[in-house]
Amino acid sequence: MSYSARFRCTAGCPGRYDLDEVIYACPECGELLEVEHDVDALRDRSAASWMRLFDERWMTTRWPHGSGVWGKKEWVAPQLRDENIVSMAEGGTNLFWAERYGATLGLTDLWLKLCGNSHTGSFKDLGMTVLVSVVKQMVADGAPIRAIACASTGDTSAALSAYCASAGIRAVVLLPKGKVTTAQLVQPLANGALVCALDTDFDGCMAHVQRLTKEPGVYLANSMNSLRLEGQKTIAIEICQQFEWRAPDWVIIPGGNLGNVSALGAGFDLLMELGLLSQRPRICVAQAARANPLYRAYTQGFERFESITAEATEASAIRIGNPISVRRAIRTLERYDGVVEQASESELAEAAAAADRTGTFVCPHTGVALAALAKLVARGEVQRHQKVVVISTASGLKFADFKVRYHEGRIEGVKSQHPNQPVELPSDYAEVRRAVLGSLDRDPG
Ligand SMILES: *Cc1c(COP(=O)(O)O)cnc(C)c1O
Ligand SMILES: [Zn+2]
Repeated sequence: MSYSARFRCTAGCPGRYDLDEVIYACPECGELLEVEHDVDALRDRSAASWMRLFDERWMTTRWPHGSGVWGKKEWVAPQLRDENIVSMAEGGTNLFWAERYGATLGLTDLWLKLCGNSHTGSFKDLGMTVLVSVVKQMVADGAPIRAIACASTGDTSAALSAYCASAGIRAVVLLPKGKVTTAQLVQPLANGALVCALDTDFDGCMAHVQRLTKEPGVYLANSMNSLRLEGQKTIAIEICQQFEWRAPDWVIIPGGNLGNVSALGAGFDLLMELGLLSQRPRICVAQAARANPLYRAYTQGFERFESITAEATEASAIRIGNPISVRRAIRTLERYDGVVEQASESELAEAAAAADRTGTFVCPHTGVALAALAKLVARGEVQRHQKVVVISTASGLKFADFKVRYHEGRIEGVKSQHPNQPVELPSDYAEVRRAVLGSLDRDPG
């Protein structure tokens, strides 16, 4: 097997670097790096043969290929030795037809890709399995790495901590104090990470971790490290595979640091280059209106980009004012006839609640994507019979507090149009009967 991948500068400088070098930015111009695959080597298999190989491996227990990420190993990290793979069977998440919710929007072909149904409850697992595996190989080959560090809005630290614990590598996480949910805080604690709660926001944590990882022996796990995007790009490949190797018309994805939309584009690019797809989907990035620097730039035709100070939003994982991957995200949107939409706190909360009424339990970020979709439908950009996939990025169970406050009517600026509260009753059958039958009579459904 002669497949290979290397880092190259996203601004086009000539240098190439091995994936197991400790390097995060171009030494010549300081721009981000991206992973470049030897696509010609990958052409030694036909498109049909790649499809067959990926389908054979899909959702088996054969290690490591049963993982949604490592089932595509040749396209992700071909030079990684199998003995260094740190995997917990990530990926392979359900993609289901949201028939009833779609109907409320007038759509007939709406699908939800539940990337949060994963090991630590978010899509961050897909990238972290790759990053931690590469570090394990670096350590095995003698690199003096003592710990992997990240700044996080919650989900990255949970994923890093789990994969590090599984590999026996130390994890260090910098979190903005009081700005992540209890579930997100307790995950790295349970996995034994060193958790530093800093009196700042995510962008502040990011600045500190970038300095910290210049110290000897501390490796950076944030998404400026493009190893993670190689794992996350399997989301695009999985979606097409789950539709029998066809792309949907639209993909709607919530964006913060904008690594995931860049990864999505990279996945579709490779499918196109290797002939597994003949048509590109369109992509919509959905942002919270309180953390919307990409949306602002979009409304100016991407003439220039200005970072902002992101305000508090229920969609806490995308509360980012200075997204690290903004340039690659804009290039992705240009290739995928992309649009950017935003959602207010009320719009995201009501969209999440309305979807939950049709059987989901979506996180607030997915609420942002669903609210954006409703706007695209309303102005006719997304059409009634188009196939639409909404990327659900985390499990709603990590955001139970958001749900509780919604149903108690305690989210500021949100009226709660679908509140539901327990009916408290004594242990008395007559009262139970009156409550149940009375409710069924009032609301026949
Ligand atoms: C990280 C994250 C996002 C945003 O992904 P980016 O790559 O930062 O744009 C969205 N939703 C959830 C739940 C996340 O954890
Ligand atoms: Zn460069």
